[in-house]
Amino acid sequence: MAENERAGKLVVISGFSGVGKGTVVGRLLNDYDHYTLSVSMTTRKPREGEAHGVNYYFVTNEEFEEMIRNGGLLEYAGYADHYYGTPRSFVEENMAKGKDVILEIEVQGAMQIKKAFPDAVLIFITTPSAAVMAKRLIGRKTETEEQIDNRFKRAVEEAEHLAKYEYIVINDDLEDCVREVNRIVETGEGGVRFDPDFKERFLRELLEIIEGRAQEARNRVSGT
Ligand code: 5GP
Repeated sequence: MAENERAGKLVVISGFSGVGKGTVVGRLLNDYDHYTLSVSMTTRKPREGEAHGVNYYFVTNEEFEEMIRNGGLLEYAGYADHYYGTPRSFVEENMAKGKDVILEIEVQGAMQIKKAFPDAVLIFITTPSAAVMAKRLIGRKTETEEQIDNRFKRAVEEAEHLAKYEYIVINDDLEDCVREVNRIVETGEGGVRFDPDFKERFLRELLEIIEGRAQEARNRVSGT
């Protein structure tokens, strides 16, 4: 730790699919020089425009399982039929250099991190409502209908874990959201506390959206 006086922090950023996490993380990296991003390993296929080593390390199931066996992952989880995990060495090296290392990971992985690194800062980013989330997820047109359905179902599970995050940030305005996340990392203050009413409302809306999509699919099949 020659250049810096302190070891860097681990910053876990989770959030439902479609809340704009990627954009927020991109802005944190761009606007502040104390962050670096951990590039995860995954067995899912690259989306249009994604590059190996930049967005993810895209690997086979065998390669991923080999990393698990070798202890090369800090955490890993199964999500929508694929593995996702955080390579250990990059994170350890950069924290030692004083960088705040961002992990953009889902809930199961976040809980593994919290257990292994009690000082990690866990932030959950959400949209103001499930309808806004659905609009963004469908609007980005990167997933098939089936994948979108899977992500909505997964969001229902993720909402159940909201209370485990110390910090919840509502991504209504991008600039405010980026500043708020940085304030949390730097000062330990910011975000909103878990609100059971918010969760209930979000879940209700999400379930209505899922049911609406299922009904549409049934109508398509029956030709009505
Ligand atoms: P996507 O397929 O949209 O890129 O990512 C799907 C989910 O996997 C997102 O919630 C993302 O945050 C999460 N994810 C990405 N990398 C990792 C990782 O290394 N570990 C875990 N546990 N989740 C990850």
